[in-house]
Amino acid sequence: RALNFNAGPAALPFEVLEKAKEEWLNYNGTGMSILELSHRSTEFESVLNNAKRLLAELLDIPDTHEVLFLQGGASLQFTMVPYNLITEEKKRGYYVLTGVWSEKAMDEAKKLGDPKTAASAKAMNYTLIPSIDDIQMGDDAAYLHITSNNTIYGTQWTSFPVTGSIPLVADMSSDILSRPVDISKFGVIYGGAQKNLGPSGVTVVIIKKDLIREDASHLPTMLNYHTYYKNNSLYNTPPSFAIYLLSLVLQWTKDKGGISGIEKINRQKADLLYKTIDESEGFYSGHAEKPFRSHMNVTFTLKNEEMTKKFLSFAKEEGFIGLNGHRSIGGCRASIYNAIPLAHCERLADFMLRFKSRN
Ligand code: PLP
Repeated sequence: RALNFNAGPAALPFEVLEKAKEEWLNYNGTGMSILELSHRSTEFESVLNNAKRLLAELLDIPDTHEVLFLQGGASLQFTMVPYNLITEEKKRGYYVLTGVWSEKAMDEAKKLGDPKTAASAKAMNYTLIPSIDDIQMGDDAAYLHITSNNTIYGTQWTSFPVTGSIPLVADMSSDILSRPVDISKFGVIYGGAQKNLGPSGVTVVIIKKDLIREDASHLPTMLNYHTYYKNNSLYNTPPSFAIYLLSLVLQWTKDKGGISGIEKINRQKADLLYKTIDESEGFYSGHAEKPFRSHMNVTFTLKNEEMTKKFLSFAKEEGFIGLNGHRSIGGCRASIYNAIPLAHCERLADFMLRFKSRN
């Protein structure tokens, strides 16, 4: 298997790909590939229901919340959240800015209204997460939006704001299913699947049922959460293959010991890479401040651009894929989502040590 540290679409568990290959031409004795099944068939509906059930089990999703499968990526949720949550009375979304993705989420909300910044780490070059105590909202707050893990900068929330009656909305695209989260504290959680959940093409939304408005028929049908809720995410043709792969990834996660099993391995992987950075006497330096370091995206630089380029080019020669930082900040980034085995992080740490001793 390639040493794939891409940020997304990211590596999938090998066992999942094997299982998909096994079932590829004949899904469950149907004589058809899963790609060929009608989304109205009982076989497909049970794939979808199984994915919902497994996600609910793994994340301990309470009955107060519903799981929806949509398309359009996390990026479409930047629009759907304000569309569905803003009301006459509660007319403003509040945003904690922790990176490019939260800025983009807020930019979309600006097209529909007048969102406000509740707190921001922009002045600190997004090296940290603002203190929960610094978050400010008015009486007009329809929701508070956060990005739980900042894929580009490599920072992550460790505890979440307590917002009382104001719905907490989280873009969890790059850390959903990597650690336990108390779902009951959130109004909406959303994420594109292409990191921890499986393939691109399906977006998962976990929403508190009382935020799904039956009276929102003025909204475009496909932008209305109620459409998906009412039709078990089968209003129109869903991304059926992506939902199938998602169900296999969820089963794999369960087989790995569920979230607590996965979290333990994730911690080991991240600790190993951060230790390599910290013990390098400044040869490598992490972008994120220590208390805010992401367990999913390890971002670092070398002493200058030239050395960073050399590192990336040697890494490529040794078979490491996707270690370059996002085009907006440069540097290096190792994305170590659930499917990345500890052994691949050990290979990377070993390479980093060898590169340092030669340079
Ligand atoms: N939010 C975060 C935190 C992301 O990491 C990404 C993509 O990497 C997005 C949103 C955009 O997701 P999508 O490509 O599914 O629209």
